[in-house]
Amino acid sequence: MKTALITGVTGQDGAYLSQLLLDKGYKVHGLIRRSSHAEAHLRRLEWLGIQNDVTYEDGNILDVSAMSRIIREIKPDEVYNLAAQSFVKASWQQPLLTSQVTAIGVNNILEAVRLEAPEARFYQASSSEMYGLIQEPQQSEATPFYPRSPYAVAKLFGHWMTVNYRESFGMHTSSGILFNHESPLRGLEFVTRKVTDAAARIKLGLASELPMGNLDATRDWGHARDYVRAMWLMLQQESGDDYVVATGRTVSVRDLCRVAFEQVGLNYEDYVKLDAAFLRPAEVDVLLGDPAKAKAKLGWTPEVTFEQLIAEMVEADLERHSARRA
Ligand code: GDP
Repeated sequence: MKTALITGVTGQDGAYLSQLLLDKGYKVHGLIRRSSHAEAHLRRLEWLGIQNDVTYEDGNILDVSAMSRIIREIKPDEVYNLAAQSFVKASWQQPLLTSQVTAIGVNNILEAVRLEAPEARFYQASSSEMYGLIQEPQQSEATPFYPRSPYAVAKLFGHWMTVNYRESFGMHTSSGILFNHESPLRGLEFVTRKVTDAAARIKLGLASELPMGNLDATRDWGHARDYVRAMWLMLQQESGDDYVVATGRTVSVRDLCRVAFEQVGLNYEDYVKLDAAFLRPAEVDVLLGDPAKAKAKLGWTPEVTFEQLIAEMVEADLERHSARRA
């Protein structure tokens, strides 16, 4: 039986990855940050019905001594670092916290793995936001980076540390440059879930409008369940590497609104209002990934289309709000 440690286990990807690894017979340990509302944080694992199947470890990626102790104790075969301050907009308001968690946190875990379990395989959750002001129309592993937010700068540090630990210490480390990936478990601060939740509430008469930022931005959106499979595949290869994980199709925020509202039989133009509060100091206008390497080397292809993804999210939000009302 293999043992995995997942940081960020209470997040969207942590929940889906736990489910995947449990299904494969892994013993899954999840890092939990001590807080007064820890139970609320297990809601994504509960949604998947696996909250009692994960072993929780108290710790924090900011505390390298705690990370070393945990890794020494559980001797993981695989470590997945999904923990981060992951919301781009918040990174302008909390740039230093974002750097501590999203950049230095990666180095802390890499050090703990190097010292306590150097044979363990390591996955770093890198991000398409690192491409920022895009240098090529379609972004691959060879495309130069141009980060456009404190979040993206921090992720770039984590990415290069992961590459450096591989090249300097011969460790099996992989960086997954994942384009936006969503699901019914996505946080409400992200645009897909904000829109599917609003479409559901408006349909049920619980809201009357949807304040939005830049509708012209486009993203390459996939389903988180597909993307965690790519993470696992990276760690099953003979050596670590960097991979873009994307669908190869980009859709505007405007079309996201259109598709989500169509799902409940409404026209988004009747409800969406521009609200400058949701604009950003610097925008990433377009992201479009080239998943050719992941396809060729990992045999990975996404199974869920954008329309299926949004339909699943709207359905889940309709169910949640209907249940709350009943
Ligand atoms: P990101 O790509 O990691 O920043 O993911 P988000 O889901 O937070 O944002 C995706 C895109 O949607 C960005 O270009 C945002 O500027 C744009 N957007 C437009 N309106 C909104 C909004 O109300 N909320 C969020 N989160 N994003 C918005």
